[in-house]
Amino acid sequence: MRVSRRTTLAGLVAAPLVAPVMSRAAAPDYTITPTPVADGIWMITGADEGIAFDNGGAIANITVIATPAGTVLVDSGPSLRYGQRLKHVAESLTGRSVVRVYVTHLHPDHGMGIGAFAPEIVAALPGTIAGMSRDGQGFSDQMYRLLGDWMRGTDLALPGKTIGGDEEDFGGRRLRLLALSGHSAADLAVLDEQSGTLIGGDLLFHDRAPATPTADLARWRQSLAALDALGHKGAIPGHGPYDGTGRQAIAQTRAWIDWLDTALTEAVRGGMDMVEAGRMVIPEQLRNMASGRYELQRSVSHFYPMLEAKLLPRVDQS
Ligand SMILES: [Zn+2]
Repeated sequence: MRVSRRTTLAGLVAAPLVAPVMSRAAAPDYTITPTPVADGIWMITGADEGIAFDNGGAIANITVIATPAGTVLVDSGPSLRYGQRLKHVAESLTGRSVVRVYVTHLHPDHGMGIGAFAPEIVAALPGTIAGMSRDGQGFSDQMYRLLGDWMRGTDLALPGKTIGGDEEDFGGRRLRLLALSGHSAADLAVLDEQSGTLIGGDLLFHDRAPATPTADLARWRQSLAALDALGHKGAIPGHGPYDGTGRQAIAQTRAWIDWLDTALTEAVRGGMDMVEAGRMVIPEQLRNMASGRYELQRSVSHFYPMLEAKLLPRVDQS
């Protein structure tokens, strides 16, 4: 078989969140360190990397919220072992049992820890549950290949509760539930009304380039506009550090996807191939976003064929 540069590049970067590391070694336990960001809210910061054996897949940010009715988690990490450790750490921190786990979207770094919780307390948008039902086994297989022993005991689990309403009240602490999309087909954002903290899931990337394997950039822009209008204080992004301004992660995510959209369109029109497009210059003002080159190359691999089909004339039909 002739391997073109395109198939090589696509193979390297097409799979979600892949860093090519494999190991059969026994994994150590996860270190989970919650940092307080607002009254009764802690953030557990994920590694600023792709999923790899060295980080056990713990790359997404997780949020712990203390409420009078019990502990609420937003996202659950990449594996059963992570979810079990998270449950222990969160309950020790707040002194109350976990009563709700929200899964923000279908990606495995956010939702594969839910096996540690009773399905009826795990809630997600209908589109997220549909996406996990469709793609979850494939994600799980990839995670086992990358993470080996970290994944031991992790089976694909689905949220048992479908989010229908737009808020939930936990003994007086009210959480607004925003059904958005763009990073994926269904993205949940959560606003804690008491502290004004927005938990943006992967709609928000902060000091870290946005991941786009399942993205619809036009919808993502609309969702960012909706978040921008909330009047919140701080924001917890899906990846990257806490945003005390509440605005910076929104602005950075928007700047990256706007640039990406224009740059890829111009690259296709200018006749660049995928390898060349993956090597294009990233503008100065976006270079402080971690994993920029890695995410650009992944974005090229899944957007390019679609853009070429849309933008380039077919010689056999002209
Ligand atoms: Zn994601």
